[in-house]
Amino acid sequence: MTQASLKITEIFYSLQGESNTVGLPTVFVRLTGCPLRCGYCDSEYAFYGGERLLIDDILAQVASFNPRYICVTGGEPLAQRECLTLLSALCDAGYSVSLETSGALPVDDVDPRVIKVMDLKTPGSGEVGRNRWENIPLLTAQDQIKFVICSREDYEWARFKVDEHQLVGRVAEVLFSPSFGQVTPLSLAEWILADNLPVRFQLQLHKLLWNDVPGH
Ligand code: SF4
Repeated sequence: MTQASLKITEIFYSLQGESNTVGLPTVFVRLTGCPLRCGYCDSEYAFYGGERLLIDDILAQVASFNPRYICVTGGEPLAQRECLTLLSALCDAGYSVSLETSGALPVDDVDPRVIKVMDLKTPGSGEVGRNRWENIPLLTAQDQIKFVICSREDYEWARFKVDEHQLVGRVAEVLFSPSFGQVTPLSLAEWILADNLPVRFQLQLHKLLWNDVPGH
């Protein structure tokens, strides 16, 4: 019996919308709360509220979907210390587990079995000052780094950071996403091609399929 508890906004089954497991059926555990306020945030409904659940109850809800892949997301999951216990419990249960994190909090103590999908916040996000650069050496060959690009200036910044920190080769994927309504997908695709960047362009599949309705 695991008595630790966390505040949970939602647990749902959908297709992974991002990262290199895009399209795979996945259970999402969305934790409540985030200390950041990115201008493009699409999960503001997870900032407050939520329901406090024991880890055993979370595991039971997850198991009811009979999944292979679990994504722990937010909000910022690591803002709740017990997230670390939840991540290990999900790994112990035999799932393939990923963690979506803003990159603003330490990832030192995340279970090494967990695939970290870490943002680097661009200037256009409004939260570039929150990037915890000390996290980068802690990422491994199974992890992924995501940039949400809000402008051409953001693109240039991201391109510089990819080079400065030698991100390609350090992690499994470097992901570039256009910020919805700020950069057209086509513009970002053409910039990447023109510069022959070794990064993966991605669109958010769940937005294309379900128009960003919570629970998908
Ligand atoms: S870190 Fe994520 S959840 Fe938090 S404000 Fe930024 S986009 Fe929203």
